Amino acid sequence: MLEFYILDTGYLLTDKNNVVAGSTMATRSNPDVKHTFYRLPVMNILIHHDNGWILYDVGSHPDAMKGHWPNDLQEGYQLFQTIEQRPEVQLALCGITPKDIDTVILSHMHFDHTGNIHLYKDADVYVPKADFEFSQSTVHQTTDTTKYVGYCKKDLEVPVRQYILVEDEFEIVPGVEVINLPGHTPGLLGLVIHLEQEGTYIFPMDAVYTCEIYGPPAKASGLLHNRSEYFKSIEKVRMLEKKYNATVIPAHDWDLFQTLKKAPFCHR
Ligand SMILES: [Zn+2]
Repeated sequence: MLEFYILDTGYLLTDKNNVVAGSTMATRSNPDVKHTFYRLPVMNILIHHDNGWILYDVGSHPDAMKGHWPNDLQEGYQLFQTIEQRPEVQLALCGITPKDIDTVILSHMHFDHTGNIHLYKDADVYVPKADFEFSQSTVHQTTDTTKYVGYCKKDLEVPVRQYILVEDEFEIVPGVEVINLPGHTPGLLGLVIHLEQEGTYIFPMDAVYTCEIYGPPAKASGLLHNRSEYFKSIEKVRMLEKKYNATVIPAHDWDLFQTLKKAPFCHR
């Protein structure tokens, strides 16, 4: 048995240039170009397998805009999250509580993917080794939060049962593959989920922000650690999409997210 739920944990409001690089550019004939906001939905994936529950990403901290995030982060990425979009409420839609989850996978260590890790202190937490190490050194080498490039220090100081640093790709439970998609950050873990009825889903998380980013041709995102690895990872997703005739779900596409069947709907 293998099934998953898509959890809606709210959205972030940010300048579109942060999403698609160079979205608004001043030119000779249009020198006063207007910048626009983009809404980034933030999803978590809850997987139910024969022996338990796995949570893939944990969203943004509910008190993000009340001081959990430093001010510069609040300015750049405003969080909108209703009571119904809080993690405990989303899990309750699926009939469980945070205590039922003994395995968490973090795609990468950015603030909108690590925010509720404090709810899973008794869990094994799989993280991409390269991004775990880079994020830890980034937030601990200065007090200047503007240098934290998308990492939230408070989230990165939460103790859990164990952080398992992933380098190699592996099958975490039958039907669920953990894959490497670096570039957006030094390391990034995507998921390939093979369902019996609906077929294969690929969740690349922030390796592919939106459908516009995916293309083809692929576009650069605003936040980008390693350009050549980033584009290589997108083409790896495309190769896997063809191989499995899969459904690819980019992490933060507003229009696509509105069409997805979310919890309590169960994908099988
Ligand atoms: Zn993100």
